[in-house]
Amino acid sequence: MIAGAGPVGLVAAANLVGHGVPVTVLEGNAGLSEESRASTFHPPTLDMLDRLGVAEPLIAQGLIAPQFQYRSKRDGLIAQFDFKAIADATAHPFRLQCEQSRLTRILLDRLRHSDNFEIVFSSPVCGATQTADGIEVTVMRDGRMETETARWLIGADGARSETRSALGVEFEGFTWPERFLVVSTPFDFHGVIKDLVSVNYVADPQRWHFLLQIPGIWRIMFPIAAGESDALALSSDFAQSLMTQLVPGIDRYEIVHVTLYRVHQRVAKTFRQGRAFLIGDAAHINNPLGGMGMNGGVHDAINLTERLAEVWHGSKGDAELDRFDRQRRLVTKEYVEKQSIQNKKNLETPGTEFLDRLAEIAADARKTREYLLAVSMISSLERARELG
Ligand SMILES: Cc1cc2nc3c(=O)[nH]c(=O)nc-3n(C[C@H](O)[C@H](O)[C@H](O)COP(=O)(O)OP(=O)(O)OC[C@H]3O[C@@H](n4cnc5c(N)ncnc54)[C@H](O)[C@@H]3O)c2cc1C
Repeated sequence: MIAGAGPVGLVAAANLVGHGVPVTVLEGNAGLSEESRASTFHPPTLDMLDRLGVAEPLIAQGLIAPQFQYRSKRDGLIAQFDFKAIADATAHPFRLQCEQSRLTRILLDRLRHSDNFEIVFSSPVCGATQTADGIEVTVMRDGRMETETARWLIGADGARSETRSALGVEFEGFTWPERFLVVSTPFDFHGVIKDLVSVNYVADPQRWHFLLQIPGIWRIMFPIAAGESDALALSSDFAQSLMTQLVPGIDRYEIVHVTLYRVHQRVAKTFRQGRAFLIGDAAHINNPLGGMGMNGGVHDAINLTERLAEVWHGSKGDAELDRFDRQRRLVTKEYVEKQSIQNKKNLETPGTEFLDRLAEIAADARKTREYLLAVSMISSLERARELG
């Protein structure tokens, strides 16, 4: 049984069903989420989705971004990286810019045809109790509590995971004082910023931003200081005032969407408790710089379900499942958490140390390769394998 039909829960379901394991997904909402959130798929995530047969339709709906850039507000382009340099390590040497809601739709369309798959909407999980040979899951339906049983439960029910609460697992970490504002506009930045690519990080000690393109739209993310109120941050004048700092001479943008996020860095104290597991945002959340939240969640889902399928079919024993917790939790702590915090510091710290280091990496083929293996999360997967 899987709680949550987000990208991570549905990838877990698809991999289990693909291995002949029957799955029921309980989704709290009445349908799949339309929310505009993750929009970057990294190369190894695309490799995994390819094995599930869904990379091709996803790529058809997205935008292929072979390069990304670091810029500074003061000096413009500092370094450009091309995933071509790691084309021997992945079948998809690019980032795919595409909304996560596209992936969930593609996965559900595929899964619906399987006899081994069931999804029940409007069924929030609100409790879980371990028994000797299974798990009893409490679900709220039409205002009434019902109990269902499963052999295993995967909590993929997002940052506020009820599964995590029901298991009493601590969500250790902190919340950043600043929030992040995402402004969406159809404005054509390629026409006004020379040599711009689809993924661009712009450092500035006063107010950094990143500029990401998805089909038909650009998203610009800015930090909002603790002293700037939510009401101010969400006003259209404020968004316009931030946007006017992007390109000299352009002082009005068509803004189609503004969203304000609180940003956390938290990792669950354990990803496994008996017959229950936590994956994706239920297990870890981080700031979105580097696009590692959903990608890391997909990596959790594949790591866990490969092992769970073997245990289900009897070819491996229960101890195999502890390896999921060991590998994914350590990699999340060592890599995703550290790297996402560092990414934020790099963009906001005064001085040119980080930008100088980047320019040096970009000028050296061996350093570029190492750097790209890290930012694409390939190194984190290698590290997980090393942990055994
Ligand atoms: C602005 C922004 C930009 C981002 N950009 C990126 C990016 O580019 N790349 C990246 O990798 N990540 C990014 N992220 C993070 C990414 O969105 C999340 O990591 C991702 O959504 C996690 O997927 P998930 O399936 O674990 O959880 P969710 O997407 O939150 O899905 C959880 C599902 O569980 C359901 N649910 C909740 N409670 C219950 C319950 N009690 N019972 C049953 N179902 C329940 C929810 O309705 C939902 O359908 C970004 C996040 C933000 C906010």
